[in-house]
Amino acid sequence: MKKGRFGEFGGQYIPETLMPAIKELELAFEKCKTDKSFQAEFKRLLAEYVGRPTPLTFAARLSKKLGCKVYLKREDLAHTGAHKINNALGQALLARKMGKKRIIAETGAGQHGTATAIAAAKLGFECDIYMGEVDIERQKPNVLRMKLAGARVVPVSSGSRTLKDAINECLRDWTASCETTHYLLGSVLGPHPYPEMVAYFQSVIGEETKKQILAAEGKLPKAIIACVGGGSNAIGIFKKFVPEHKVELIGVEAGGLGLDSGKHAARFADKKIGRPGVLHGTFTYVLQDKFGQIYNTHSVSAGLDYSAVGPEHSMLRQLKRAKYTFATDKEALDAFKMLSETEGIIPALESSHAVAFLLKYAKNCGPNNIVIVNISGRGDKDLGIVVKEMGGKL
Ligand SMILES: *Cc1c(COP(=O)(O)O)cnc(C)c1O
Repeated sequence: MKKGRFGEFGGQYIPETLMPAIKELELAFEKCKTDKSFQAEFKRLLAEYVGRPTPLTFAARLSKKLGCKVYLKREDLAHTGAHKINNALGQALLARKMGKKRIIAETGAGQHGTATAIAAAKLGFECDIYMGEVDIERQKPNVLRMKLAGARVVPVSSGSRTLKDAINECLRDWTASCETTHYLLGSVLGPHPYPEMVAYFQSVIGEETKKQILAAEGKLPKAIIACVGGGSNAIGIFKKFVPEHKVELIGVEAGGLGLDSGKHAARFADKKIGRPGVLHGTFTYVLQDKFGQIYNTHSVSAGLDYSAVGPEHSMLRQLKRAKYTFATDKEALDAFKMLSETEGIIPALESSHAVAFLLKYAKNCGPNNIVIVNISGRGDKDLGIVVKEMGGKL
């Protein structure tokens, strides 16, 4: 693999003005991999502050219902309620090593903003979070959490007023402030080194999962299923299993109102508008028209609502090492309810997409086979949306 590339995907498509900041980050990231004090502090924070390892829960009633052995990786139990804190703390520690004083980030679901604000509070950084006005409206509890953690939430009113517009504003800020400021990107997206770095900080999910499933069952699972927004929780759990060729890796995108509606975020599944292109610094699959104009996406879950997918996923798909499918809003909502009722675990709407595909997958699975689903976050933040979508009754 060439530096910063995943096959033909990835790269550094950025303006000259950002090159020094990106180079500085690349160097710091390379160093931290062998820096004993960095590694020890990261480990300590993950254990003492995030509460890792998160459990791998055997879902007994769900397994019985579906006719295969289902385990759930419980990122919903990480501090802040989702996997994003792993990466936020890793990068915040790195920012401290680089001598930065301020952290900025963009956020869609508000989960990454919350994780960043909380990592900034924990490590004593000034913090600004860019967020689209539409997302501010649909994710109010997270906005309050960010403010409580001492961050400023900057509303973004341009474009579709969602995640991709917040990213543009954030990049504008960073171009002017990179000497003192670290841009804490929330998924396996953007220019090198971000996709590799975020995957590195999230790979703890798969490392734990592998140990846990071997301890519980003495064998590897048949399949691992994870939802794919930018793709960080999926890469996080996949990474350690990529060399295990018998383990199927399955990513689930947001099918929104269905492929024909054009209102979705299925970058791989919709062959009409999902093609390789450049967005926010990386070459990967992007939803675009024939002139390369980016399509607005739709999903009931804000965290999956993004026009591009992490470049490493584009490579894994091209190599046929991972498969990608999608679940619609309706399927995700049904899965949300089903998992809550069957296991007493309320999954994030994002994670519900992975659960929705599990229901289809289980039909051809067999009773002795193990399937692991990554529950990337908890669904408390989504209760308002779910009640609304279900017409006021649960
Ligand atoms: C942000 C988010 C996602 C999507 O992001 P990835 O980078 O694809 O993991 C999924 N689940 C939850 C709970 C999220 O907050």
